Amino acid sequence: MSDYTPIIGLEIHVELKTRSKMFCQCPADHFAKKPNTQTCPVCLGLPGALPVPNKKAVDWAILLGLALNCKVSHESKFDRKNYFYPDLPKGYQISQYDQPLSTDGYLNIDGKRFKIHRVHLEEDTGKLLHVGTDTLIDFNRSGVPLVEIVTEPDFHDSEDVKRFLEELHTIVRYLGISDADMEKGSMRLEPNISVSLNINELPNYKVEVKNINSFRYVRNAIDFEVKRQIELLEKSEKPKQETRGYDEKKQTTYSQRSKEEAQDYRYFPEPDIPPMVFKEEYINKIKSNLPELPSAKLNRYVEKFNLKKQDAYTLSRDINVANKFETVLKIQVSDNIKPADIANVILNKKDRSSLTVEEIKEEVKKRKQPIHTDEKILALIIDQTLKSNPKVVEDYKKGRENAIMFLVGIVMREMKGRADAKLVIDKLKSRIEKLNAKS
Ligand code: ZN
Ligand code: MN
Repeated sequence: MSDYTPIIGLEIHVELKTRSKMFCQCPADHFAKKPNTQTCPVCLGLPGALPVPNKKAVDWAILLGLALNCKVSHESKFDRKNYFYPDLPKGYQISQYDQPLSTDGYLNIDGKRFKIHRVHLEEDTGKLLHVGTDTLIDFNRSGVPLVEIVTEPDFHDSEDVKRFLEELHTIVRYLGISDADMEKGSMRLEPNISVSLNINELPNYKVEVKNINSFRYVRNAIDFEVKRQIELLEKSEKPKQETRGYDEKKQTTYSQRSKEEAQDYRYFPEPDIPPMVFKEEYINKIKSNLPELPSAKLNRYVEKFNLKKQDAYTLSRDINVANKFETVLKIQVSDNIKPADIANVILNKKDRSSLTVEEIKEEVKKRKQPIHTDEKILALIIDQTLKSNPKVVEDYKKGRENAIMFLVGIVMREMKGRADAKLVIDKLKSRIEKLNAKS
């Protein structure tokens, strides 16, 4: 369509499923709770209330940084990000500015490397509810621990973005640090998009699309933006630096506000929370909690168990399903069972997450049992089949080996699968030979 290359970066917010909020004792699980029942002076931003960081949230954010191949900072701190919005009771958000928990990571997707700029920790805001002409505020979400992941503008294709996000989503679930449920808003996606004639040159503007809650919508929003921006540039108009929303019904984006610059937030160090220092041993201890990650699992399934890549991918997407596969693998259900046999039982089920280890075991056993063939019925069906397919029988006699498989198919169908395929082939061949000898 044109010589422009899309240049795309991502900002992803993930709510952590700690028991309590980021800086107070209120429960962090806020979904579908009665509004404003899980608040205290700290998360309501009342004067004099002092925030105390949640150690688990800090450890989990570091764990995620490690899973994303980041360097963990030995010194880190919280900062105040000042802006006025009614869902922010203090008038600032406690976030991290120049010393994020970790930096400089990457994720490899299908042989391509996408760099991660930083991973930091902050607090979520309250929630605005628009009812008719009124706006109501629910502070249950205010102060819930939120990890922000920022990538480098390394993406040039909306499909790569989608795959990256799917991988990140899977990793977060593997770590068990968040439900990452997009419909509940516990994982929120913000692509920033511009287009350039030179792939190595960042344009002097970017458009950020806010709070998208599905991978498909992100792809659509990017495709729409790329087209819109190219059309503007080809009319010699420069796209505005701004924040846009995504309309999922129309599959379009719409202007919301012009984008703030970092200096607009007047960041300064949070005076109520001392800086954090992490010793090497502390970081190593967190590192030792890293599980085998999905991509490593996928490769192991292919290399060690000889699974097809697509099957290994499907199995490794959900850590619970993968664990069940590996549990059954260890049980040694019976001899001559291959990993692929177990994988197939799981992959053939629609609802894999509710499948139990016991069910998988039984199904594998059942499939591996030798089928009892009723030889009397088989003989009858073979005779019938030979009689009604004389041409195929002739073909076989002339040396066309394939013809026998056609007959096997008919017999197996008539036997409703209750016959051993090898036995059917043997019986068919010997029957044809016998008839041959007679004629
Ligand atoms: Zn609170
Ligand atoms: Mn943020």
